[in-house]
Amino acid sequence: MMSSAKKDISATLPTVLASNNLVMTAKVFDWRKRKSWLASIRHYAGHVLTAEIREHLALARPKCWSDDLSWLPDSHDAVPEFVAALTGYYTHFKGFHGCRPLKLSSYYERGLIGQDSDALSNVFREIFADVPKENVESAINKFAERRDRERGKMWLVGSDAHLINDCGHYLIQGSEFLMALAANLSPANGEDYRFRLRNYGVPTVLEIDIPVELVPAEQHVEVAKMLLSEWGQLATRNHLGFGDIPPCYVVRSDIPRECIRGHYHPERIIDPHSGHRPYLNRLRTCDVCG
Ligand SMILES: [Zn+2]
Repeated sequence: MMSSAKKDISATLPTVLASNNLVMTAKVFDWRKRKSWLASIRHYAGHVLTAEIREHLALARPKCWSDDLSWLPDSHDAVPEFVAALTGYYTHFKGFHGCRPLKLSSYYERGLIGQDSDALSNVFREIFADVPKENVESAINKFAERRDRERGKMWLVGSDAHLINDCGHYLIQGSEFLMALAANLSPANGEDYRFRLRNYGVPTVLEIDIPVELVPAEQHVEVAKMLLSEWGQLATRNHLGFGDIPPCYVVRSDIPRECIRGHYHPERIIDPHSGHRPYLNRLRTCDVCG
C-alpha cells in the first residue's frame, strides 16, 4: 500500500506531558492494527468483557452488530463501562487528514487549525479571480450557513488507505468547502470549476495522534461500539463481513503541532470524481519534506 513510502516514525516512542507534569507514555489507538488492539482489550476491559460473557457468546453465536448491541449481555451498563475503560487506557486516537495545502510549514508551526471559512473564501476569490465577481460572491453567500456550521471543524479517519482509496477527493481537490463553492459557480465554456482546484497545492496525507480528550464523547462511543462488534465477531467466530470502514473523528478544536506524527504525498489516489480511476500525483515533495 501507499504507506510503504512513508518513514516509520512509530519507533520514536511518543511521550505526552500530563497536566501534573508527569511524563507518561502515549498509548495510541491505531485502527489499522486490528490484531494489536484486539489483543489489548483484555488488559483494560477484562472486567467488562469477562470470560463468562465470551463463553456465552461462543455458544449462542449471535450476530455482533456495532449499531445494535443487544447481543451483548447487560449492554445498557456494559457499553458505558467499556467506553470508560477504552478512553482510560488509550491517550490518543490515530487519525489521518487528507488535504491539498499550498504550504505544509504552517501545520508544523501552528498545528492544525479547524476550518477557517473566511480564509478559504479568500483563497476561492483568488483562484477564480477571472470569473465575474458577482458569481463568486453569490456562491460564497449561498454557503454562509454552512460556513458558520463548519467553522473550526476538522475531519480525520482511522486509516490512510481508506482516505486514499475511498475519499481521494480531499487530496486531489482539497477542502470540501472549496469544492462545494466551486461546484456552485455557474460554469462558463463548459469548465467544471472543481477541476481547477487541482492546480493548487500538494496532495497530502497527514498522520495525527489526536489526544483522546479532543475527540467528542459521542465519537468515543462510536469507536467503542466498533471495537465491541469486532471483539464479539471474534468471540462468536461469526464474521459479518461488512468490510473495513474505519472510524471517523470530527475534531472541533485546534490540534497542537506536536500531535503531527508525519505526512506523505501518495503517488496513486483513487479519484471519486473521475469514475474512480487512479489519479497519478507527480507532486511527491512539499516545502517541508522537499
Ligand atoms: Zn511533504
